[in-house]
Amino acid sequence: MRTDAIILGAGASGLLCALTAARRGFTCTIVDHSPVAGRKVRVAGGGKGNVTNLHMGQEWYVGKDVSFVQKALRHCSPDWVLKLLQEFSIPWEERDYGQIFCTVPAARLVEALIARISQMGTSVLLRRNLHNVAWSDGLFRVQTSEELLEATRLVIALGSPAWPASGSSDLGIRLARHFGHKVVPVHPVLVPLICPNSWPLQNLAGISLSAAVNIHERRFEYPLLFTHRGLSGPAILQASCFWNHAEKLKIDFLPGMSALELMHMPNNGRLTVLNLFRKVLPSRLAERLVPSELASCKAAQLNKLARTRLAAAIHAHEVVPTRSEGMNRAEASSGGVETCDVNPRTMESKRCPGLYFTGEVLDITGLLGGYNLHWAWASGKTAGEAFRKN
Ligand SMILES: Cc1cc2nc3c(=O)[nH]c(=O)nc-3n(C[C@H](O)[C@H](O)[C@H](O)COP(=O)(O)OP(=O)(O)OC[C@H]3O[C@@H](n4cnc5c(N)ncnc54)[C@H](O)[C@@H]3O)c2cc1C
Repeated sequence: MRTDAIILGAGASGLLCALTAARRGFTCTIVDHSPVAGRKVRVAGGGKGNVTNLHMGQEWYVGKDVSFVQKALRHCSPDWVLKLLQEFSIPWEERDYGQIFCTVPAARLVEALIARISQMGTSVLLRRNLHNVAWSDGLFRVQTSEELLEATRLVIALGSPAWPASGSSDLGIRLARHFGHKVVPVHPVLVPLICPNSWPLQNLAGISLSAAVNIHERRFEYPLLFTHRGLSGPAILQASCFWNHAEKLKIDFLPGMSALELMHMPNNGRLTVLNLFRKVLPSRLAERLVPSELASCKAAQLNKLARTRLAAAIHAHEVVPTRSEGMNRAEASSGGVETCDVNPRTMESKRCPGLYFTGEVLDITGLLGGYNLHWAWASGKTAGEAFRKN
């Protein structure tokens, strides 16, 4: 079977690439081993898909060279994504931090995309194992479990190995290597972190509060959640994008408030330190953070040294997580195909003409907030727009 392009992966970026190419008159064949297309889109954002973010720019991405995203983002703004939702009659809402979510299951967006591209002549082949992918005489040949496909263009839109329950794999990375591309080692990000058993804040599972997590020069002020094994919630998921093994996190449990000023307030001086901090923090957390020898002292009676110590316990709690929860619980992975060998205007390989990479398989990872799906749409659209007539 011969078409203008073969797209490996019926996920977010593969579908957008097919849509864009089909609108320009190219016929595509999408191949995927899953029984349904877009499984990660379906589970994204708790099923409602955080599909983009109103605050967009390269500062929301990590990778060896994040400036790579600039051109694709310029051609695919958040506004463009909102128009796409409108075109497919998918209602949406803006939530905190500029995040845009569908108000209906994100599966509806996947189904609408599949229906549209199928109508326009794209073949969507699901439940196909990929046995062999090769290039010779200007033609890519893909042998699936059921057919031989041929095209002059091949798009690798196979995503990352994160969250394997969604059918993800490292095939995209292996194929990139096969075609001579360098790969930045992948590791799980947007992932909960496990803390040591000796950590004084163990066994607080279920407590959540707004906190600021500091790592390197970055500070993430978002909700934080204590889990059975450590920490999670948006503040930690964001920090996990920058965390390397054995590195320390510094947590401010009272961001935007000063523990020192709180103790100085006239009416607070007569309270015990523990009761004072129980007023502004979850009770069980306050009991762990306030040093036991200070807990029953009146706030006004503390000397300068004790106040400083208390402020540090609350505003600069230090923990060295032992490891992350791993790929099984990671919403994304960092690393991937090195962008230096991919053209940012077209997503085409500089090593192998006609070969394209889109989405998470590239060494580009978005922070939490709709940035990964946005990158998938933007890079898929960029590739689809770049196909040239032979
Ligand atoms: C639980 C969860 C929630 C998320 N929520 C959000 C969110 O709200 N907002 C956001 O921006 N991002 C979110 N993400 C991340 C986002 O879904 C991905 O970054 C995005 O889908 C990547 O698009 P892609 O096209 O690169 O890859 P994918 O969408 O992963 O598509 C890759 C496709 O390749 C197929 N494939 C893989 N291996 C093989 C193989 N060996 N043979 C054949 N086919 C194969 C897969 O079946 C899949 O269909 C979430 C991720 C997870 C896991």
